[in-house]
Amino acid sequence: MAKVMFEINGIVILDSIDSEEDLKPRPGIRCIINPPPSDGRCRCCGRHLTELRPFDFDGALLVKMFRAHSPPDEELDAIWEKYTWNCDSGDDYRKAKEKMIQELGEEKAELVETYAHARATSYPSWECRDCFFLDSQTYHEKIYERYRKDEEMARGELRDQNGQRVTSLPEPPEQ
Ligand SMILES: [Zn+2]
Repeated sequence: MAKVMFEINGIVILDSIDSEEDLKPRPGIRCIINPPPSDGRCRCCGRHLTELRPFDFDGALLVKMFRAHSPPDEELDAIWEKYTWNCDSGDDYRKAKEKMIQELGEEKAELVETYAHARATSYPSWECRDCFFLDSQTYHEKIYERYRKDEEMARGELRDQNGQRVTSLPEPPEQ
């Protein structure tokens, strides 16, 4: 059964789930904040609940965590830091942006600012035990690799080890 972190007036925050039952609506729950994935798959590797090994400590199959929208990038971090290290207010950031545009050009300044926002904000990500402990860089590499395969599959270009065309994700095994 899913762990309920918080509940008030039927509004619930879940932390982990350990079966497909946890994906079904439950009486008394009006709203789940950052709900588990309705398709029952790990956000990162895409494997289904039925294919996953449980976490050691409590048997959970998917655990919620928060991931930055972008992987780290040393060059962009250094530029952002150089222009904004002493910024304290919206006005400071506006001036820093103007200076960045003057010195780096509009396109690069936009890139640096977008990157900084993507690093500073996060989204909920339900992950299996193989993905949960990945650092930000590796997590993003793994998820991009999956998206790339999804696109290849959509174009009919993905092949399995035997050279056969793959047209859909493997069905979760019957329980
Ligand atoms: Zn995973």
